[in-house]
Amino acid sequence: MKKTHILALIASFCIFTFMLPAGELKAAKKDVTGPVTLIIDGVETNYDGTIAGFMFNGQEVNIRKTPTYLFDDTAFINVKKVISKAVPDAKYSYNKSLGRIKITRGDCSIEFYTDSMIVYKNGKAAYSRAIPKFIEQDGNSGNFYLPGRLVFETLGYTYVWDSDKKMSKVTETPATGKVYELYKYGVVLDNKVTRDIADYSGKIEIKMPGPVGKNDITVSDDIYKNEIYISVKGDHRKFFDNLTFRDDCENCVVQIRDEYRLEDDLTVLTIVTQTDLNGLCLLHKDEIDDSCITLRFNRAKDLYDRIVILDAGHGNSDPGTQNFGIDEKDCNLIIVKLIGRILEDAGIKVFYSRHDDTLIPLRDRAYLGARLDSDMFVSIHHNANNSPEKNGTSVYYSLINNNSSLNDTVTSCIMAEMMQADLIENLHTNDMKVLTTDFTVTKYNNVPAVLVELSFLSNPEECYRSITDEFRITAAQTLAGSILKLYNK
Ligand SMILES: [Zn+2]
Repeated sequence: MKKTHILALIASFCIFTFMLPAGELKAAKKDVTGPVTLIIDGVETNYDGTIAGFMFNGQEVNIRKTPTYLFDDTAFINVKKVISKAVPDAKYSYNKSLGRIKITRGDCSIEFYTDSMIVYKNGKAAYSRAIPKFIEQDGNSGNFYLPGRLVFETLGYTYVWDSDKKMSKVTETPATGKVYELYKYGVVLDNKVTRDIADYSGKIEIKMPGPVGKNDITVSDDIYKNEIYISVKGDHRKFFDNLTFRDDCENCVVQIRDEYRLEDDLTVLTIVTQTDLNGLCLLHKDEIDDSCITLRFNRAKDLYDRIVILDAGHGNSDPGTQNFGIDEKDCNLIIVKLIGRILEDAGIKVFYSRHDDTLIPLRDRAYLGARLDSDMFVSIHHNANNSPEKNGTSVYYSLINNNSSLNDTVTSCIMAEMMQADLIENLHTNDMKVLTTDFTVTKYNNVPAVLVELSFLSNPEECYRSITDEFRITAAQTLAGSILKLYNK
């Protein structure tokens, strides 16, 4: 018997069993709506959101044991399950050691990494707020749940969310072979820097409430979430409920929402910008006057000539190496902020992978290089070893990342050699030389990237020295100096 016949049989059996107790089924469905206990990414959660179904080519697929859940209005689907049950063209695979979930259909593919907000759509990197969730329910060992629309539309299917029936409806549409047209803004992350990304510019103007002045308004952003926050002193919900704004930017704004923060007496407007520009960060340059705020959107290179990414290793629940009551993550951040100040004073635009005690996935740090059109990426760490005698400084780069910047004058290797020599000269630490290894932040970068291990915090003397102002200032001045030299080559 052919496989398709078996599938047809199973399908007709399913329809048959679905048809008979239609009323009961509805009732049963209602029963499971309401708070259920789920373990989401290892955390027990009382889920009381929408529990939904899945339909393929007009046929409902039985996924009652692992239904679809809605998070932030996005339907997360047990894609492995629905593919195995109903979508014969698509293939699902999971590579545990890479943390990669890959779904293919003919020439189309989508890849997720379990620790990343970047997805690969047909081989090209894109930013997604909807990252895989590992969900365990009663009586099953857990599955990855993926954002349904993103998966099925990337694979060339039509995806419709039916909010009345609480159902994701996927239908087969003939492959057009035109999927790549979606990627006109594409940043290719196969270790080649593409600089020919389409021009992008636009602006929005938002009226501000009458009584506030320039000084009552602050603007900040989150480059990982593609969100911009405008904070206005006072409670202006009434005003912003009838918000008027002019949008000249071809759908670059997805959503604007307002919220009043009682404790700070601030009304915060959150502006969500387009997330589907294949990972590219859209930056804003603001003009604030008393009655209006104008945000102009551009890609980084259109706004800044010289761009450096500074990455303070580790963060939050990942402290890095811990010795003598000192967390590496804090030492890294101090050095990064010191380097950043010197570079900013020299007119260089610095982006920080983190500017406080947060934990950012390694790949997301690495991808900032491309997303922000940067010239160089520098990751700061401190080392440790089981042997307390071990001490010294080393700069690492990855042989896989051979990309150059600044008209081919800078590569990862050139950066590493210069920084290593300069650090040894100024810090007088043990010269452990330039080393090559494939750290995620250097390997998955497509701009010249190094990882600096300044000193060994596991060595009591070197640890003591590493936390002095003198050491920190010297290290920061040295690395900032190397970067400035590279710009002036
Ligand atoms: Zn480290």
